[in-house]
Amino acid sequence: MVTCSKCGHEYQSKVLQTPDEETLRSEPREDIMENCPKCNQISSHNGPDFYWE
Ligand SMILES: [Zn+2]
Repeated sequence: MVTCSKCGHEYQSKVLQTPDEETLRSEPREDIMENCPKCNQISSHNGPDFYWE
């Protein structure tokens, strides 16, 4: 899950397909661009913005 930085809407990331949170935290990665389904704005995210439920 990721939280939109524009409107705060939480949604399932379509871009990120990481098997587990530990892998994500341990690997440095480029910012990931996500298109929010609610406000339709593109915002960039990096590892700490993502969380698992
Ligand atoms: Zn949004």
